[in-house]
Amino acid sequence: MRAAVLAAFNQDWQFQTLPDPHPAPGQVVIRIRASGMCGTDLHAHHGHLGAKLPIVLGHEPAGEIVELGAGVLDLKVGDRVGVFWNQKGCGRCAACQSGRSEHCPTAQSWMHIGGGNSELMLAWASGCALIPDGLAFELAAPMFCAGYTVMSGLRNGDPKPGERVAVVGVGGLGHLALQLSKAVGLETFAITGQAGKKAELVALGADEVLLAGDDPGAALKDAGGADVILSTTNSAKQIAAAFNGLRPGGRLVNLGVPDGPLTISSQTLMWGQRQLRGSSQDERADLYEALQLAAAGKVKPVVELYSLERANEARERLQAGKVRYRAVLQHAD
Ligand SMILES: [Zn+2]
Ligand SMILES: [Zn+2]
Repeated sequence: MRAAVLAAFNQDWQFQTLPDPHPAPGQVVIRIRASGMCGTDLHAHHGHLGAKLPIVLGHEPAGEIVELGAGVLDLKVGDRVGVFWNQKGCGRCAACQSGRSEHCPTAQSWMHIGGGNSELMLAWASGCALIPDGLAFELAAPMFCAGYTVMSGLRNGDPKPGERVAVVGVGGLGHLALQLSKAVGLETFAITGQAGKKAELVALGADEVLLAGDDPGAALKDAGGADVILSTTNSAKQIAAAFNGLRPGGRLVNLGVPDGPLTISSQTLMWGQRQLRGSSQDERADLYEALQLAAAGKVKPVVELYSLERANEARERLQAGKVRYRAVLQHAD
């Protein structure tokens, strides 16, 4: 199989022909049709995730199952599936035994058995989710990290009917957060530093687009504040500033990987009974809901398509902040 291989950190991925994978018991082999590129791939590329080299990246894979390992009973050859990050827990620890295998300290992910930037991918059957009929692979792929992550974030922000959500950082994750929040009927503001994005964000459904420079919190406060902020920016400064735009009792849900410590005013936190929450891919139901909303056309990832051979170009554009809103590697039939 052809694959884009990260052989050395910070170096271009190499296109290599690797032996076709064969499934161990409990695993499947997927012919990859689309593989989304996420900001976290840049962290992996730079060596921040501790991945062992060489490795094939890609944690938003979507394709068709071509081979089943022994003991796989729930999936069939030909099933259209995607794979999420933590595919399988140990089954024995407190997290696994309480049904929260995503928190298993030894959970298996693409970092252990390889990702989707290849023609074929190995996955644990327990890490696969069916793609609803009619949802194209290139639109399904981004739901397996970005869509899942923001749906969990929205749920963990616990918005009540009538409350206002604000999305800070409207890129790969944020443009889906905006649409998911609207799709479940919440008033949703988008906060961006890029004036050129305003019309696009209105078209994606934002009730209002606030232009914020260094201080998204001040812009939000001026507009009446928000009860829930879904923050996808990696800027610790922006996250801390946004926090000041919460209404009393409000919750900021951080979905990004901050570039430094978060400095939050303890006064703002305490007197206003505000909360800072972290969230990542949580319950499977969140992924299911995100996929259903995408299949219903209520959430539509905005994707730029690249062939696998153009993976380095896509990665460089993502690094330069030029991707609008998700780069997806599309694999030939
Ligand atoms: Zn991701
Ligand atoms: Zn476990």
